[in-house]
Amino acid sequence: MILGCHVSFSNNQLLGSVEEALSYGANTFMFYTGAPQNTFRSSINMDYVESAWKLMIDNNINIDNVICHAPYIINLANATSLDKWQFSINFLKNEIKRCEDMHVKYMVLHPGSHVSLTREEGIKNIIDALNYIVKDDDKCMILLETMAGKGSECGITLEEIATILNGVKSKNIGVCLDTCHLNDAGYDMSKFDEFLQIFNNLIGIDRIKCVHVNDSKNVIGAHKDRHENIGIGTIGFDNLVNIVHNDKLKDVPKILETPYIGEDDDDKKRVYPPYKFEIEMLKNKTFDNDYLNKIRAYYK
Ligand SMILES: [Zn+2]
Repeated sequence: MILGCHVSFSNNQLLGSVEEALSYGANTFMFYTGAPQNTFRSSINMDYVESAWKLMIDNNINIDNVICHAPYIINLANATSLDKWQFSINFLKNEIKRCEDMHVKYMVLHPGSHVSLTREEGIKNIIDALNYIVKDDDKCMILLETMAGKGSECGITLEEIATILNGVKSKNIGVCLDTCHLNDAGYDMSKFDEFLQIFNNLIGIDRIKCVHVNDSKNVIGAHKDRHENIGIGTIGFDNLVNIVHNDKLKDVPKILETPYIGEDDDDKKRVYPPYKFEIEMLKNKTFDNDYLNKIRAYYK
């Protein structure tokens, strides 16, 4: 199983990301090349990258399974300000180039929010933008993430994702599933095989290149997008185990984006990453009722 989590890029860039992933017992990881909320980017230090590659080889992490995530303020769906839209396009092109330099093969992208436009106009803008960005010979592939349907997000249903993919001339573009988003969008994750069948009919299962594995704080169809720790939310441990162990997705990297423990505390002063414990439970298919307390004790 290829299972990892979101890690930081701010401490020695890719080298720090690998070290953090290893500390959780992960065999892959996902990172943002800078803060997800802004587009400021420092240049890539190739010394760190080369040390990171070596560390990955020594620890059996295949760079082909490593995922980058585009910042979520990038919005390809709204072109009412052409300047901003053009900026998003250029920024993404540049992020692809940075990933290619690091030999990172996938970049997850939120399709975008149509805001004041209609849903159809938003989707058309996304397609137009992707036709500027995506090229057959790009070595880093954009993966459209399935969204929860918060606000005016596009890419909520598989039909919308299919419409976007069909509009992009190059086929060098894939999909990232997110279990929390799918649940919140209205898909029942307890019937994952049925879901994959529908996906395969509409899009083709081979276009799935990444799965974000998150529980959800909200009920099916809530259109909220609030991630919950594994086994604590409405999707539940057994359904998430079935998804990460699903044979049809066995070569697809799975990435946890669950919240840090302590984020709901009043002071938020001490927060602890849950990933080491969540990865272990998912691998062993065994839920530990006391794992949140064990995380606090482990990092104290
Ligand atoms: Zn996600």
